[in-house]
Amino acid sequence: MNKRAKRFEYKERNFDDLKERTKSNFKERDSFIKSDFKLYKTKDGANKLRVLPPTWEGAKHYGLDIWLHYSIGGNGDGFGSTYLCNYKMLGKECCIDIETKEAEARGEKAYADSLKASRKVLMWVIDRTDEEEGPQLFAMPPNIDRELVSQSCDEETGSVRFIDHPEKGFDFSFTKTGKGKNNTKYSEYKVAWSSTPLSKNPDKVDEWIDYITDNPIPSVLNYYDDAYIKKVFSGHVFKAAEDEEVLEEKPEEEEYTYEELTNMSKNELVNLAVEVGLEKIKAKALGGDALIEFICEELKIEVPDIGEDVPMGDEKEEEDKPEPAAAVRSFREKLNSMKNKG
Ligand SMILES: [Zn+2]
Repeated sequence: MNKRAKRFEYKERNFDDLKERTKSNFKERDSFIKSDFKLYKTKDGANKLRVLPPTWEGAKHYGLDIWLHYSIGGNGDGFGSTYLCNYKMLGKECCIDIETKEAEARGEKAYADSLKASRKVLMWVIDRTDEEEGPQLFAMPPNIDRELVSQSCDEETGSVRFIDHPEKGFDFSFTKTGKGKNNTKYSEYKVAWSSTPLSKNPDKVDEWIDYITDNPIPSVLNYYDDAYIKKVFSGHVFKAAEDEEVLEEKPEEEEYTYEELTNMSKNELVNLAVEVGLEKIKAKALGGDALIEFICEELKIEVPDIGEDVPMGDEKEEEDKPEPAAAVRSFREKLNSMKNKG
């Protein structure tokens, strides 16, 4: 593990990654981690990870508690960027905290909740299903971290399994179900029965450990000035982020079809409608069909003509569609007026 010869290879990879990042559209949003690091995105279904040990001075846990403000700014798209809370992290002034307190004082609880900093546990992990990616940063929801810790401790004997040990640690798996910000659920947390080395290839172990030693968690954090965040915040519309999943979810990349929408539950439709800009209270008041209409309108999803069956399979609508039926038009007008009133 002390072979330092691997360091050069490491930096080379790091540089390639960095170059790659500048090409991707990832940089369009501000991020709470520096742009040369990869963020692990939880997958639908099984997630199998190996947690890497902490490499910073005085660490008591493999993860570092971080506090994030979600959905700041966003240019009206409803998503915005995620910022570290300058108050909770550094003890400095945080304009979002101030806004949160003021909103609470005004009795605007939902708005205040959407602003409030939420905690994540940031750690280095290896994705066992994609080890080629190397160490990735995982902003683990606290409930997963709690589960992981409790499964690592044997209450009766008082013994602890050091899951992050490079030679005799334990892999960890969990399942993600549900879609969208509000319906995502994690379950089936499982720490492996037997310990395994971080990798069967000792060179890999060296490489990964070198990498995280060079990049301890506190050094990957990307802070922004309060004045800058204030500018982002005040210049744009805010949308509620009601779930801790905003970070991993990138709803703007998801494409829905009309058919998928018709298979969603009312609750899912409400959440999606809120994501694309409808106020929750209004979304809840609408029926399923109306919600689908609204979402299609906002996301520019092709809608089959009202009154006809949804085309199935290969049966395609003609290219130049006629004007929407009067009923649909008036419905859209109604929705627009609702939106404007809000
Ligand atoms: Zn804050």
